[in-house]
Amino acid sequence: TLPPDCPPDVEQLGRSTWTFLHTMAAYYPEVPSYAQQRSMKTFLSTFSQFYPCDHCAEHLREEMKSKPPKVESRWALGKWLCEIHNIVNESLGKDIFDCSKIDERWKDGPKDGRCD
Ligand code: FAD
Repeated sequence: TLPPDCPPDVEQLGRSTWTFLHTMAAYYPEVPSYAQQRSMKTFLSTFSQFYPCDHCAEHLREEMKSKPPKVESRWALGKWLCEIHNIVNESLGKDIFDCSKIDERWKDGPKDGRCD
């Protein structure tokens, strides 16, 4: 790991960005308005153009062509993002995450209360 006052490398940028994206999805409205759905689509499309790792962004845009963002509910967005992250995990040889655990990981914390 780099010292904390250095510019982020691809790994650190990735961890911070996934934290932001999964947390945003976890707090997306259960029943988003049409305007909110459109805004989220625009956000994700813009994000995929400007994410500051060129080959990561290119890969993401390619995946989003065949798997367009699901923005119709909190659950749908969280599951879509989890699946996109798993595609990246797979390409990097990382473990596949169990998408039934996204609320526990990003919103509610584990049942044993150790994160409370
Ligand atoms: P990360 O993958 O950063 O994950 C952080 C935490 O999220 C994990 O510890 C786990 O608790 C949780 N998590 C893991 N998988 C999921 C999931 N499916 N759903 C919900 N939570 C999950 N790096 C490259 O080298 N090449 C690339 O092409 C590339 N593309 C990227 C594209 C995007 C859009 C982003 C945001 C990052 C990309 N990265 C890429 C960075 C890479 O995904 C990792 O962030 C980085 O390698 C650090 O990995 P990590 O093991 O710390 O965990």
